[in-house]
Amino acid sequence: MKKLVFATNNKNKTEEIRLALQNEFEVLNLEDIGCFVDIPETADTFEGNATLKSTYVKENFELDCFADDSGLEVEALNNEPGVYSARYAGERDNQANIALVLEKLKGNSNRNARFKTVISLILGNENYLFEGIIEGTLRESLTGKKGFGYDPIFQPNGYDVTFAEMDMSEKNQISHRAIALKKMITFLKSQ
Ligand code: IMP
Repeated sequence: MKKLVFATNNKNKTEEIRLALQNEFEVLNLEDIGCFVDIPETADTFEGNATLKSTYVKENFELDCFADDSGLEVEALNNEPGVYSARYAGERDNQANIALVLEKLKGNSNRNARFKTVISLILGNENYLFEGIIEGTLRESLTGKKGFGYDPIFQPNGYDVTFAEMDMSEKNQISHRAIALKKMITFLKSQ
């Protein structure tokens, strides 16, 4: 069976994709291929960072690969924090990141925001990009304990709960990541 690397160290994410593609590909993660470097994410777009990761694996391991990059875009903040979502307040600290977004939005009635994922899939010599977006609004305070990152302040449109109040299985049906992954899986199955 053809091998396909998912440039991640997250075992849950890998397992999900492995199941979805079990008849088409042997899905490996970075640990499986012995890649233990912290691949630099120095681009200023999601596309750029996802492509940096997928290309690194292709060039160093000669295997087809896909990688994702995600973040929160806030309309009233010129789409910040964007690619800087993980370290918006200077370090990987979810509480500080949320506090900074809420502070910058204080008194602003435009609470529109979206989560976005871009996947870069390198098959042979081609780079295929898949995008997933979920639109929503930002609450003024935190609600819910599940999830991660900005989940406690993000309420997807059409729901009256935040991502952090949803069960993981529910969030995983509608999230930006799920939308991008579904597009890639449909593409791979049609190959
Ligand atoms: P990554 O590219 O998936 O590692 O996401 C980068 C950063 O974006 C994370 O560290 C979070 O701060 C934020 N982020 C991405 N996806 C989500 C999500 O589903 N919920 C909350 N925050 C997210």
